[in-house]
Amino acid sequence: MCGVIGVSGVSDAARVAYLGLYALQHRGQESAGIVAVDPVGRAKLHRAMGLVSDAFTEASLKELTGDVAIGHTRYSTAGSTVLANAQPYLVNYHAGPLSLAHNGNLTNANELRDKLVRDGALFVSTVDGEVIVHLIARSKAATIDGQVRDALEQVDGAYSLVISVGRTIYAAVDSRGFRPMVIGRLGSGLVVASESCALDLMGATVVRELLPGDFVKIDDGKILDLPRLAPRRVSRCVFELVYFSRPDSTIFGESVNHVRRELGRQLARHHPAPGADVVFSVPDSSNAMALGYSEESGIKLDHGLIRNHYVGRTFINPVQALRVQKVKIKFNPVRDVINGRSVVVIDDSLVRGTTSKGLVGMIKEAGAREVHFRLASPPITGPCHYGIATPTREELIASSHSVEEIRQYLGVDTLEYLTLGEMIDGAGRRNEWCHACFSGDYPTPVQLTLGQLRHSSPPVAIPL
Ligand code: 5GP
Ligand code: SF4
Ligand code: MG
Repeated sequence: MCGVIGVSGVSDAARVAYLGLYALQHRGQESAGIVAVDPVGRAKLHRAMGLVSDAFTEASLKELTGDVAIGHTRYSTAGSTVLANAQPYLVNYHAGPLSLAHNGNLTNANELRDKLVRDGALFVSTVDGEVIVHLIARSKAATIDGQVRDALEQVDGAYSLVISVGRTIYAAVDSRGFRPMVIGRLGSGLVVASESCALDLMGATVVRELLPGDFVKIDDGKILDLPRLAPRRVSRCVFELVYFSRPDSTIFGESVNHVRRELGRQLARHHPAPGADVVFSVPDSSNAMALGYSEESGIKLDHGLIRNHYVGRTFINPVQALRVQKVKIKFNPVRDVINGRSVVVIDDSLVRGTTSKGLVGMIKEAGAREVHFRLASPPITGPCHYGIATPTREELIASSHSVEEIRQYLGVDTLEYLTLGEMIDGAGRRNEWCHACFSGDYPTPVQLTLGQLRHSSPPVAIPL
């Protein structure tokens, strides 16, 4: 998963993009980068590994002069964690510098890349966004708009993209609309971002969300709608609402906070825990869900777990002999909330089950009399091919274990998940969701890489 930003017609665009990236940090923590284009069309790039706050310094931002910028935060879903794979890309194109920031995952990237390599293309990274750059460069279309469009028509899968060519910014969302993207106004300029929470920090106001298949051009403070991409069955990623996006964002026309609260209410309606004394979330991703559960059930909401917000990606255990359980670094129970009580623990999703098992151990050690675990999404049974880094099928506990087996593994008194129908009801608007990782109903043909083939049985490709 990744976060993308575009800024046009705003002085010190790179600093505005930097703020936007800060608000999209949750979408990717591996690397961050910004390309800025100055008034004469010269582009500069700075990208580095790590968090936005580590990747940029005052000195590096000062170098990024200009009133046009695009930015990216990366969480690898395709390609490894190395600087060469950090985005945006910046290349010299005949029409000026071309840069690209991609959120999503292309399902035919391997096939396209093999073909391009056979035709003599030289790749500098292993991420699929680079394929789009080559396709633009090789297009025979007469205009730049046509060349970008040509590339977008050849790729399949999930993309919410920001591309700059010279001083023009293009933004596009694939026709299935897996990933969110929004346009905002900032003074006389315009911004684009993966989520609306970034607009708030940049000081921009929402113009509109990009809809599936939208392809727009941003120049001189104006949005020009280019012909839409060929329509497909809309497949918004329901997991964006369940887990990935920030609750203060509005995506797919829905307030993320509102949907999460409704998912919590659905859990309380269909999966009650009679006699429980207190309900709490596994912070922070399920806070709104626990609130909804409490509102609907009348069970008192409290803070049963406290999360350490300063856990970096590379925690070094100070004393090897004191090897602490990983989960303890991140969470600690609040004893007086838990001791002697029957507790309902709400989480948004269960992936491998390892964090949850550790948490349950902690909650029991803190004196819980009964533990009722409730999940605001159905069992995850398959990997995501559209840009969320869910593990391989074998690592997903629900791909090979029944709910009862998972209950025993976690060591809880009861374990209940929302059903697919209950989750969709909570998310609103039927027939517009991708829920493939829960249902196995993949909206695109999926090309499995050799690695994935080894890990998945049976093959998961279910063409439309
Ligand atoms: P588990 O018990 O399966 O090890 O972890 C469950 C937790 O993982 C939940 O709290 C959920 O919020 C979180 N989670 C769900 N999806 C993802 C993901 O794609 N990446 C990360 N890092 N955490 C996730
Ligand atoms: Fe989202 Fe799951 Fe579909 Fe991936 S498979 S796009 S995570 S709903
Ligand atoms: Mg969580």
